[in-house]
Amino acid sequence: FVTPSRNMHLLKKEGYIDGKWVKANNNAVFSVLNPADDSVIAEIPDMNDTDAKNAIEAASKSFQTWKDTTAKERSYILRNWFNLCEKHSGDLAEIITAECGKPLVEAKSEIVYGNSFLEWFADTARHINGEIIPSPWPNKQILLTRQPLGVVSVITPWNFPFAMITRKVGALMAAGCTCVIKPSEDTPLSALAAVSLAEQAGVPKGVINVITSSRKNVNTVGKVLCEHEKVGCISFTGSTVVGKILYSMAATGIKRVALELGGNAPFIVFPSADIEHALDQAMLAKFRNNGQACIGANRFLIHEDVFDKFVNGFKARITQKCVLGPGTKEGVTCGPLVNNAHVKKVADFVNDAISKGAKVLVGGKVAKNLGDNFYESTLLVNVKPDMKLYNEEIFGPVAACLKFKTEEEVLKIANSTRSGLASYVFTKDLGQSFRMSRNLDFGMVAINDGIMSAAEPAFGGIKESGIGREGSKHGAEEYTDIKYTLMSGL
Ligand code: ADP
Repeated sequence: FVTPSRNMHLLKKEGYIDGKWVKANNNAVFSVLNPADDSVIAEIPDMNDTDAKNAIEAASKSFQTWKDTTAKERSYILRNWFNLCEKHSGDLAEIITAECGKPLVEAKSEIVYGNSFLEWFADTARHINGEIIPSPWPNKQILLTRQPLGVVSVITPWNFPFAMITRKVGALMAAGCTCVIKPSEDTPLSALAAVSLAEQAGVPKGVINVITSSRKNVNTVGKVLCEHEKVGCISFTGSTVVGKILYSMAATGIKRVALELGGNAPFIVFPSADIEHALDQAMLAKFRNNGQACIGANRFLIHEDVFDKFVNGFKARITQKCVLGPGTKEGVTCGPLVNNAHVKKVADFVNDAISKGAKVLVGGKVAKNLGDNFYESTLLVNVKPDMKLYNEEIFGPVAACLKFKTEEEVLKIANSTRSGLASYVFTKDLGQSFRMSRNLDFGMVAINDGIMSAAEPAFGGIKESGIGREGSKHGAEEYTDIKYTLMSGL
């Protein structure tokens, strides 16, 4: 297994506060592991609440000047950052694969995807406009302007360790905010690499700061990031459980939140669908990032008329196309899961389903021949509502299939969850497409597609899947407040 030693200039092993690469104030460190073999890639600072406060002070100081830069200047810097990430995409990808496990090809796609947010927000920065509204009074004018929120605490997960940084930081910088990033303890090196390129791109000191912390320090650091008086917004992507904790801490200071939480995506196939196409898209919606995506298909709801055809086709594709192994090996399509605790969680979901009557058609266990962190690509049928994997996000390479009879029934099943992020529908009936789009209680609906994420649309969920949108012009507006100024006596 290759650790990215030859990319030393991007493999940063320190936090980043006020334009300086720094150790933890108490010199503590923790190890970042390669999930393919659990080897240590790097030892990095295990920062605590004191470091978090220092980072917030730096971000707050730099906000005073960054907010007054022109949108054109901010756009220029973001574009520089985009260009550098493109230039160094090979090295960035190696770091992502080393700490996150995904195949190199997927890591490269993540760079393209993640970098598209920097490009998009470089443009969007110059289009964050206000409004002038006709006043109800004579000789007065109503101005609505958009003002940056201030310091944003950015807390990110391990599944897209580069893209989750750019999607948030590109947007908030465009709006004129500054930030403190706390990347996942599993994948901090991608964040540090991205930020070292931001430094080269000319991002002024203090605009982006990075605090690296192990799980041990995450509660105290998280409390500072959510409750410090100089923080204006908490932007989080991760589990719903942690999202609720952060939301409640944010409430103590009435802070703004942007929350991208878990999903439980239905993948619905009607009899009119092009089944071969639906199967190709099912492979993407389920096995991209080995199932570790919040918009990954969680429940395959297949009409009874095409159930056998779909399941047989799915079985054949999984058997032929899912190649398990370390992400650095040529031809591998599914890497290890991010860590052993996560493997145990996925295994527990599958065992629970089997004990309640689910039938395994492919996979169904840990791939011990490769190590402890690899889980076989799995297909289950006879899935029922009392099973954990029906109700909760699997976040792994397990496709669970259920049969339905009517549109009304499938809507009821699909919506019977507290999550509301992504959903997928396959049909050739135009009226049905519109009905499903309207009636599915999800923030995002893909009709006849298994991949829907990009910089241009607004990404986000309803119900317990979150608050706010990322990407699109709305993504940048999330980091602004509307100010109303009344111009009187005109
Ligand atoms: P996952 O289980 O997918 O790792 P989590 O929601 O646990 O997702 O973690 C997402 C991010 O939230 C990570 O950066 C993690 O360190 C961080 N995190 C977890 N608990 C807290 C907390 N109490 N305060 C702040 N950040 C937290």
